[in-house]
Formats: sequence, structure tokens, C-alpha cells
Amino acid sequence: MSLVNKLAKERRARLAAERLLELKQAELSSANRKLGRHALALTKQIGATQAEVANVRDENEKVKSDLSAANHKIEVAERRLWHSIQTIQDGFAFFDADSKLIGANAAYLNAFEGLDEVTPGVSYMRILQVMTDEGIVNTEEMSAVEWRAMMTDRWLSLTPAPIVIRMWNDQYVKLIDQRGHGGDVVSLALNITSTVRYEAQIHAARERAEAANRAKSAFLANMSHEIRTPMNGVVGMSELLGDTKLDEDQRLYVDTIRNSGEALLVIINDVLDYSKIEADRLALYPEPFDLERSIHEIALLLQPTVRDKGLTMLVDYDLFLPTRFVGDPGRIRQVLTNLIGNAVKFTHTGHVVVRVTGVPDAETRPCAIHVAIEDTGIGIPDDKIDHVFGEFNQVENERNRQFDGTGLGLAISKRLIEMMGGSVWVESEENKGSCFGFRVTLPLADGPQPAPPPLPSKLRHVLVVDDLAVNRAILEKQMTQMGIRVTSCSSGREALEQLESSVDLVLSDHNMPEMDGLELAQAIGDGPYASVPFVLHSSNPAMAQTDPCRRYVQAVLQKPLPRAELYSRLSELGAGLQGEQARVAQNLDREEVNPLTPSPAPHEREAHSPQAPQAERKMRILAAEDNRTNQLVFQKMVQDLDVDLRFANDGVDALRAYSEFRPDLIFMDISMPQMDGKEATTEIRQIEQGTGRRVPIIALTAHAMDGDAEEILSAGLDFYMTKPLRKAEILDRIRSHCPEDARHPILYD
Ligand code: ADP
Repeated sequence: MSLVNKLAKERRARLAAERLLELKQAELSSANRKLGRHALALTKQIGATQAEVANVRDENEKVKSDLSAANHKIEVAERRLWHSIQTIQDGFAFFDADSKLIGANAAYLNAFEGLDEVTPGVSYMRILQVMTDEGIVNTEEMSAVEWRAMMTDRWLSLTPAPIVIRMWNDQYVKLIDQRGHGGDVVSLALNITSTVRYEAQIHAARERAEAANRAKSAFLANMSHEIRTPMNGVVGMSELLGDTKLDEDQRLYVDTIRNSGEALLVIINDVLDYSKIEADRLALYPEPFDLERSIHEIALLLQPTVRDKGLTMLVDYDLFLPTRFVGDPGRIRQVLTNLIGNAVKFTHTGHVVVRVTGVPDAETRPCAIHVAIEDTGIGIPDDKIDHVFGEFNQVENERNRQFDGTGLGLAISKRLIEMMGGSVWVESEENKGSCFGFRVTLPLADGPQPAPPPLPSKLRHVLVVDDLAVNRAILEKQMTQMGIRVTSCSSGREALEQLESSVDLVLSDHNMPEMDGLELAQAIGDGPYASVPFVLHSSNPAMAQTDPCRRYVQAVLQKPLPRAELYSRLSELGAGLQGEQARVAQNLDREEVNPLTPSPAPHEREAHSPQAPQAERKMRILAAEDNRTNQLVFQKMVQDLDVDLRFANDGVDALRAYSEFRPDLIFMDISMPQMDGKEATTEIRQIEQGTGRRVPIIALTAHAMDGDAEEILSAGLDFYMTKPLRKAEILDRIRSHCPEDARHPILYD
């Protein structure tokens, strides 16, 4: 090989080696660059991780500090709570679901002082055992075993009821246990000793007050007895004196004595009623009665005063309301008498209207009744309106002093209505008038309700004449409901103008300004419509009867007129229309008596009829009465009778007289020395046994408390009369007990 070739070959080898070197260098630098980039990335990653670690470390620190703060707070709260629980005076404990004590405050543990056993971990049942074993609790009438059984049952119940236990030292503890979630129980032991003592004191005070109240009632009963006995003398004697011949002055004195006596009796009755209500001794005696009739009877009783004062009294009883209910008629009358009586008392001019409405319930039978008494009287000032229902409360001012009364009437009425489950109310405007009323729900009486008689179809059109709008409205309402056409006129003059051929009847008020009812009757009677029957409505029928114009009138009706009475009068008149008016008028004249006066019993009519054969013997009456004045009163009351009267001075005497005298009737005083009326009656009833004889015995008593009547009647007496005795009542009893073989006792009956 040539050198040149050798050189060329070497140069080529060198060039190849250089190229390889370059290549390797390029590879190396690329690898270096990659490495550098990687190292940079790694450095960045390390930095980020380091920051994260620092962050986490920070957070960890914070959580740690928060946790310790929270722990601190919990510790403080727990300490405070525990401190509070420790400081409360009442016992406090927690038990777990297995009834093991978790913790308790000092007050709780103090009850077990000195007993190391009662610490957390002890069971509730063991605590009960310790309490009885150590005598910590006073189980009273229960044995220790019973008490523990009772307490364990209670503890295990889902919601234990609070219980009061008595400790050995007479302290009373009320246990209140509350079961929480998971079965834990929080137990609270409250020391209620002072409350228990206070309650005991109140109880004792109430007992004392009730005893005093009973004593007061007994005292009142006795006082009423004591007062009624002499009152019997006063009222009875003045009644008798009134029957004798007296000059004008003497009559005035006697009337005054009697009226004052009666007024005093009203006061005694009011006070007695009120004390009975206060002592819860007043009972209601429900029985069937007719409400509308009761109202009309009261209206009739008050009629003389209404007339003297020139007032008008009206009764507006809802046509669709039944009239027979079950209630205590005596007490309902008492309330009505008080409210209507007050309305009349406190009204100088105008009218008093008694309105009765109600909603009968077809399903349940009781009926909600609403009674309102409106007057046009002095009214009550706003600031006194709530005051009047209080006891002894009256609207006190100069004007009021002219009225008598106890101020108890409304208080009693309110209590009576409340006892019946009702309520009383009042609306009033001074110098305008008042409206007192009450609502009460009463059951309907069994049996049919009195229905109005069917009206004859001939009575189609009635002309009503009354100056008082309220009365026109009532009559118009009543008659329209009966299907009658009504033309209302406010004066006689208007009536004369309105009268025309279709009018079947004129119903006119008596007392009207300008032309009164009788003058109107005369004007019509002398005119073309003389044949139209004319009915006068008057609050003083007696006066109308004697008036010369009476002949123009077919009937005079008492005002206020019971609805049933109005119907029957109208139907009578309606039936008599068309030429029969004369007969109707005659009938009405004959019957012009108070429709409410009971007609005499058949034997009474016979006894004094001239045809009745005269019996041989006199009726024998025995009166057992120890008080001389009362004997005298009784004797004078029956002095005009054709009877054989004997007195007995006490029960023993009465028994003797019963055998010797064989009375037909005995009046028996209840309180008498030696043997009282009840004992004497029991003895008499014993003697009578098997003889088939039973003499009627009437108790005379001044006792008027509840329960007395039952006691008296259960001793064998038949009737019961409260002193002071009334002549009319005595005569009534004698009259109705006269045996057939004796002469009628009342000569002038
Ligand atoms: P008394 O009528 O015996 O005074 P009440 O208890 O019945 O007692 O009435 C109490 C008072 O209420 C009356 O004294 C009177 O002042 C007032 N009062 C009662 N009813 C009316 C009435 N209709 N109009 C005005 N005042 C009345």
C-alpha cells in the first residue's frame, strides 16, 4: 500500500472518528440538557412539596391549639355546670341505662350522709334499699317492702310520674325523674316542705272558714227562726186587725204595720237566700212548669203598682217558643219577680216589656231561652253598671234613696241563674231606661205543649188601636202569625178613619191620649160599624167595667194578656161573629174574672151549695203550739169558722189530745218543749198503724233552711207551712181537709 493510500486511509479514519466524536458530543449535550431540565423540574417539585409540608404543619398547629382551646372551654363549662348543680339546694343526680349512679350533687348525697356506699356506681334499687334500711324515708302506712316495690315500678316505667316522699325529719321531697335518649335518667329531688306546710295551713284555714260558714248558716237559720216567730205575731195580728172595723187613721196604721212586717220578711228571705247560696246549701228542685204562665202571674201581681204609677206592662212571648219546661219554678219566678219588680220600681213613666224568645232544639230537647226585661226608667250610669250585681250594691245617689230594697236581689238572681247554667246581663242608659235579661237552657217538659186553639176562619181582619208602638208591634206580630190581617192605628181618631167593612174586630187599648178606648168604642158604636165587636185591652179592667161606655164593648181583657188567653178570646169572638155577638158578649161578661184564679174544687162548691145536706158535727182541729202569741194568732185566724178547735201546749199534750179529741186535722208546731212536733207525729203515726186511719198533719215552722222540709216530711207530717202564717193559707188547708161527715167549716165561703 502506498503512503498516499495510507495517508488517505488514515485521514478517512480520522474524519470518521471526528464525526463519531461530534455525534457523541451532540448526544452527550442533548442528554445533558435533558438532565438539566429534569433537575429543574425536580427542584420545582421539591419546593412545592416543601411549601405544602409547611402548610400542613401550620394547620396542624392551629388544629392543635383550637382543640386545646375547645378542651379548655369544655372543662370550664363542665366545671361551671357542676358548680351550679352543686350550689342548687335541691338534689340532682344522673343514672345510666342500667340504673347506676353516674353522678350526684352534694344536696342529693347529703340525704345519705355518712353512707359511703352511695357513690357513683351504686344502683337506684340499692339506694332505695338503703333509704328504708337506714330509716331515711318515712314510708308512712306502707311497709318497707311495699314502698320499695312501688318506687321500683315507678322508676322502671317509661315516664315516671312525679312523687312526693316524706323524709325521716318531716321534710317533704318531690322526685322528678326524666328518662333521656339511650336510657339515661336525670333525677331531681325538690325540697317542697314549705309548700306542703303552706298547703296544710291553707287547708286548716279553709276548714276553719268552712266551719265558721256553717256556723254562720246555722246562726242565720236560727235567727230567721227567732225573727219569724215574733213576725208571725206582727203580720198575723195586723192582718186580723185589718179585718176589723177601723177608722181611716187606724187603717193607715194597721196597713203600715203590715206592710213593714211584709217588707221585713222580704229582707229576711233575701239575707237567708244569700247566705244559703254562700254556704252552698241552696238546691234547685226542677219540675215541669209553664214559663209563660209564670210571667203572667208575676205581671198580674205587679199590676196594682203598674197601675198606680200609670205605667204599661207588656209581655211579648215568642209564638213559636214552647211554654212548658223543666226547671225550678220557684227560683225562676224569684228571678223574674226581681227583674220585673226592679223595672217597675225604677220606672216613673212609660212601659215595661218582658220579651221571651228562644230556639227549641228538636233533636236534643233542651231549649235556649232568652228573657229580656226592658224599661223606660231612670237607667243606670255607665260607671255603676257592673256594680249593681254585687251584693248590697245599689246605685247610690240622692235620686236612688227614694227606692227601698236590700241591694241583694240582683246578686241573688245572678247566682241562681248561674246555678241553672245560665248567665245574666244588663244594658242601660241613664235617664233612658234599662234592659236586664238572662239566658238559660231548660229541657222541654214531657207531654204536649199547649197549642193555640184553631181560629175560626171568620176572623180575618183585626183593627189594633194602641198609642204605644211597642204594644202595637207585639199584637200585630202575634196576630199575623195566626194568619190574621192586622191594621194598626196609633189613636182613636186614626182608627175611625181606617175602620171599613172588612174589619171583623177592633182590639183597642184603654188608656190613650185624646180619645181613650172607651170613647172610641162609643164613637164606633154610634156609627155605621156598630156591629163590629170591640175588645178593650186594659191594665185596669175593674175601672172599665164601671164606665157608662162599657156597653159598647164586647169584652174587657186584662193587660198584659197571656197569649193563650188572647187566642181563646179571639176564637170565641170569631166563632160568635155574624149575629152571635150578643151571646159572646154575655159569656165574656160572665167570665170576666181573672183567668188565673183557680176555680174551686168540686167538693168546695158542693159543700156550701144550698142543696147540700147539713152534716151533724163540726170539723175537729188540733193546733199544737207552745207560744202563746202564736196560739192567739191562730185562734183569731180561725175564729169565724164553724169548727171545734183545741190547742196543745207541747208534743206530749198533742199526743194526749190526739187520743181524746180525735182531730180531723192537726196543725203541728215543730219546735216545742218536752216533745217536739216531729217526735209527736212519729208517735201518732205509730198509734195509727193497722187502724186504717191517717190524720192529716200540717207542720208549722219558722225554719226555712233547705233540707228542713224533707226532714219534717220524713217524720210523717203531710204538709209544711212556714211562719208567719197567712190566714188564707190556713183556711185553704182547713177547707180542703174537711171530712165528709163534718159540716163545711167556712160559713161565708
Ligand atoms: P234592690 O232593688 O233591692 O236595691 P237589686 O239588687 O235588685 O236591689 O238592685 C240593685 C240596684 O241596681 C238597685 O238598687 C238599683 O240602683 C239598680 N237597678 C236594678 N234594676 C234597675 C232598673 N231596672 N233600672 C235602674 N236601676 C236598676
